[in-house]
Amino acid sequence: MTDTTDPTDGDAERERVSVPSKVELPRLLDFYELQTEDQTQIHEFYDNLRDGRLTTTQCCDCDEIHFPPRIVCPECTGDDLEYVDLPDEGELFAFSEVRDGLPLGLSEHDVPYVVAVVDLGPVRLSGWIDNAAYSDLEIGDAVSLKIVEIDGPTDEERVFYRFEPADGDAK
Ligand SMILES: [Zn+2]
Repeated sequence: MTDTTDPTDGDAERERVSVPSKVELPRLLDFYELQTEDQTQIHEFYDNLRDGRLTTTQCCDCDEIHFPPRIVCPECTGDDLEYVDLPDEGELFAFSEVRDGLPLGLSEHDVPYVVAVVDLGPVRLSGWIDNAAYSDLEIGDAVSLKIVEIDGPTDEERVFYRFEPADGDAK
């Protein structure tokens, strides 16, 4: 294909395009992925979570444990992976409070909230810390797994993990 348009010609007629006056948020901006076997290859992670177990993949070739779960090992590119249980208690490795600048899907009544990197031993993962104010927390505090059900925007039953101060550690 030959393009005969001279890009330096500022008077060239341009095609006019438009955007919708109202934008419906696509479901893809939903925080949580769809969780069934025909929707994600890590559906086993969600099946286990629904059963109350936080799990992730471990490579059968090089023993690397990943989080989030993988379908191919990022260390050795092997695809022989198995799901292993993670501890349901860990320690706060780092944390912060979100007060403003909310991600899509959250509203003003959701703030402030605490997000953290939790050290579970085999892996560190980020997550929401429920039932705690930022000022109540310290690095190293014990937190325990909490599984929540996701309400909307699909009719599907979905779950996700959060953490909360472990029993006796709440202040
Ligand atoms: Zn591997």
